[in-house]
Amino acid sequence: MWAVAARACCRWTDPVTFERMWAELAPVGRSARTGGYFRQPWTSPEVELRAWFVEEAENRDLRVEVDGVGNVLAWWSPGGSAGPAVLTGSHLDSVRNGGAYDGPLGVVSALAALDLLRERGFSPTRPLGVAVFAEEEGSRFGRACLGSRLAVGAVSWASVRELRDADGVGLPDALEAAGLDPGDTGPRDNLAARIGCFVELHVEQGRDLVDRGAAIGVASEIWPHGRYRFDFTGEANHAGTTRMEDRHDPMLTYAMTALAANKQARLAGMRATFGRVETEPNGTNAVPSRVTAWLDARCDSDAALAELVEVVTRQATERAGRDGTSVSVTAESVTGAVSFDADVARVVAADHEGGDWPVIATQAGHDAGVLAAAGVPTAMLFVRNPSGVSHAPSEHAETADCLVGVSALADTLERLAGS
Ligand SMILES: [Zn+2]
Repeated sequence: MWAVAARACCRWTDPVTFERMWAELAPVGRSARTGGYFRQPWTSPEVELRAWFVEEAENRDLRVEVDGVGNVLAWWSPGGSAGPAVLTGSHLDSVRNGGAYDGPLGVVSALAALDLLRERGFSPTRPLGVAVFAEEEGSRFGRACLGSRLAVGAVSWASVRELRDADGVGLPDALEAAGLDPGDTGPRDNLAARIGCFVELHVEQGRDLVDRGAAIGVASEIWPHGRYRFDFTGEANHAGTTRMEDRHDPMLTYAMTALAANKQARLAGMRATFGRVETEPNGTNAVPSRVTAWLDARCDSDAALAELVEVVTRQATERAGRDGTSVSVTAESVTGAVSFDADVARVVAADHEGGDWPVIATQAGHDAGVLAAAGVPTAMLFVRNPSGVSHAPSEHAETADCLVGVSALADTLERLAGS
């Protein structure tokens, strides 16, 4: 689809500009106590970051569009550029106590890549845009990639306008408080129809590139992913006077289920996590009546995901029979496998010193996955994370690797927007 053009003459990336931008973002939303970040959508740190991005874009004479939920698009479209647009970018929000790199690295790298292209004297023949998508992490309204899903029409505004955050604030009120206009038609535009391809650069969220000794990797696919609610029901009773053999304790059923999920995932080379548990009456001296737990499961195929959940459910049910409890399982969300575009991936991976960049799968959701599922030819570039940790303060990328990422992204955009 896209020809791989000859390598540009110059791979130099201006570390001063990259480091200046990175330093400006560093204090925003950072906890002095933990060093972690909380840039919750439509609160002051995230609003400040969005304003920072708009200023950076305007300083580069990019044309800025902001839609009703705060998705920002900044366009470099010199006279004569035409055809399907090339889009890059990521997000600026974070999970609670998250790292600095998940999201912002893709945004800062996109701006630095545009600077590098201008240094090279490049001018795009297709419109070239940098995107910042809102509420990627779902940390406020519980819907991951809410901004990009609205932008491509994967969810409707009508289906989310009643959402409330943990404090009871409705989504339209949160948007208005952040200076946005939820009545704007933006969220209902279909971005997918306007762009020809999307490339998201992102910090790696595992250790694949560390193990391979590579600074950069290219994503092949996003694993299927599901969230399942397990409701375990038993009988509340006194922790002292109730004999052990007389109990109907749903905590035991849950505990065995968590162990079973871990074992099944390890045996199959997949991922299964119970990361959230609620119990009633939640008293130290009471056998619980009810335990609700959420399973996050990710597998390398839709069939493997279905099988993993089926096996865990069967083991939970058998154990409930022995415990005198009951269990019901509800799939709250299931996202199928996302394959990235092989042609765009080839453009991203090709022709760096030492051969192609490695191609790796990812187990995390991204805006890129939303755009790919909406039919946009999409690719992802990962930058090595020496800690292997993400969604935590120790998430990291070395500046040298980040600058390789900027160069790789600039090469990719040059090939895609210059052909
Ligand atoms: Zn991210």
